[in-house]
Amino acid sequence: MALLIVAPNRDISIWKKIIQENDPELEYYVWPDCERKSEVVAAVAWNHPIGCFQDYPNIELISSMGAGVDHIMKDTTIDPEIKITRIVDSVLTISMTNYVLMAVLNYHKQFFKYQKDKDSKVWHQQVNPEIDLSIGIMGMGVLGQDVALKLNDLGFKVFGYSNTKKIVSRVKSFAGQSEIQAFLNEINMLICMLPLTSSTRGILNLSFFRKMQKGSIIINVARGALLIEEDLLIAIEEGYISSAFLDVFQTEPLPKDHAFWKHPDIFITPHIASVTNPYAAVPQILNNYKRLLNKEPLQNLIDRNKEY
Ligand code: NDP
Repeated sequence: MALLIVAPNRDISIWKKIIQENDPELEYYVWPDCERKSEVVAAVAWNHPIGCFQDYPNIELISSMGAGVDHIMKDTTIDPEIKITRIVDSVLTISMTNYVLMAVLNYHKQFFKYQKDKDSKVWHQQVNPEIDLSIGIMGMGVLGQDVALKLNDLGFKVFGYSNTKKIVSRVKSFAGQSEIQAFLNEINMLICMLPLTSSTRGILNLSFFRKMQKGSIIINVARGALLIEEDLLIAIEEGYISSAFLDVFQTEPLPKDHAFWKHPDIFITPHIASVTNPYAAVPQILNNYKRLLNKEPLQNLIDRNKEY
């Protein structure tokens, strides 16, 4: 029995070191070097080449190296019976929440305006120095709920939107297509924390933006393909969106000639909102591997039908 790591273009030396420390006896291979393909029963993957698991006839489990599984789900050659797990980790959650708080507070305190004032040596004390934000979180999962609670603690009005209703202290919950307009009516800032699935791909599009209050702010920390990037530019021109704070993009790295680089109302970071900590991830992955071998229930298993 062996484990396979498939993460081309990623430095996995630290992952190998931690695997070694946790289980020196473990038999594992790093794709594409594997002489005993039929021995492989589980894989750890990040942006694997589509179709590569076809060469391993006995794989039963694929673990994502991160919180998202869209990079695995998009490979339609993976047998529907193969189980897929993801990383759920408190450090990853705190890191994501802190990124979102940073973005929200920059808007709340109008930091971007004061930066521009500084460039022109302008000393302008606003009478109302804070923007009144009413914040909607799309995707009330592990990450979204933590953000909702912490924003609430900071005194913001917070609304949540997900597939099913949530009970989160002082957060009004909306669910399903029929409640999307009611959700958007409440908010002037939208934080997207949805997984990328066939039903969420391109969800942030022009007709969606036109349902929002004029001048709304959008923060996307989930996946670039949730947003139709050209539509965001139109929505800004039309005044539905006043500003965007983006960590993820349709193409990463963001192409040099992309309009977002120079847009004065779009702020970007290079997909760093929250990065998997291998010291937290490896024990989870090895624990699930042992559970698989012992035929015990797996942790952080995703629903293949729901795609998350
Ligand atoms: P979860 O699976 O815990 O939560 C997903 C949430 O989205 C759930 O509340 C779910 O609803 C909701 N949802 C799913 N589909 C729909 C839909 N069609 N309409 C409405 N709501 C929907 O995911 P996490 O919170 O752990 O992570 C979210 C995403 O964040 C990841 O998939 C990943 O892509 C991204 N991410 C980005 C990082 C970065 O650095 N930029 C780092 C880590 C994660 P319900 O609860 O009802 O099922």
